[in-house]
Amino acid sequence: MSLKRRDFLLSGAALSAASLLPAFRAAAIAAAGPPATTLSPSQALARLVAGNMRFASGASTQLSHLTRIDALSSGQAPWAVILSCSDSRVPPEIIFDQGLGDLFVIRIAGNYAESGGIGSMEYAIAHFHSPILLVMGHSSCGAVHATVDNLKDGSPPVPGNIQDVVTAIRPAVQAVLHDPGDIYANAVAENVRENVARLKAIGPVIGPAVKAGKLEILGGVYDLKTGDVALL
Ligand SMILES: [Zn+2]
Repeated sequence: MSLKRRDFLLSGAALSAASLLPAFRAAAIAAAGPPATTLSPSQALARLVAGNMRFASGASTQLSHLTRIDALSSGQAPWAVILSCSDSRVPPEIIFDQGLGDLFVIRIAGNYAESGGIGSMEYAIAHFHSPILLVMGHSSCGAVHATVDNLKDGSPPVPGNIQDVVTAIRPAVQAVLHDPGDIYANAVAENVRENVARLKAIGPVIGPAVKAGKLEILGGVYDLKTGDVALL
């Protein structure tokens, strides 16, 4: 292709794109997706609790996810943000019996708040005004168990970036190392509590939303044996 012809095509494409921009904007306005949630933090929590009760009692209702796919193709309005573990047994959408577009989920082994995850939460809270953020740990969490064992018996460092996970969870384990009771369960709960406290104090989006009463941050622990989420 000659330079002149390529220039012509490029400029033609640019002109076409420019002339289409108003149409794109109009389409975006016309198809902006579902309206932002009007749920309060307590209403959102009640919805999560009810969904978990349905799941744990074998009465889940979210079986036909495709029924909402068209309505959500142009936008989303998730009403809850969940920080949970990557463990294959704890998918929030299933545990809380919710469908496409309901939950904005951040998953990482050990369900701790790190930079990219915090940015994801800030995005959801700033753009969708999700009224609740739940940090959810779970029983028998491998990431927490590995950190406990690493601290207790001085095991050699774990390989690769798994060390980052252990390092992030270590302060919570150290805080309960000498507490009575099950060290693993205590560490799971403490890890949730510490991340809730950390998130509440993080600016400039999450902390101010909490202070303004627009966002509630809660912690919970999912029981792998019963399917129940116990709020802390
Ligand atoms: Zn886990």
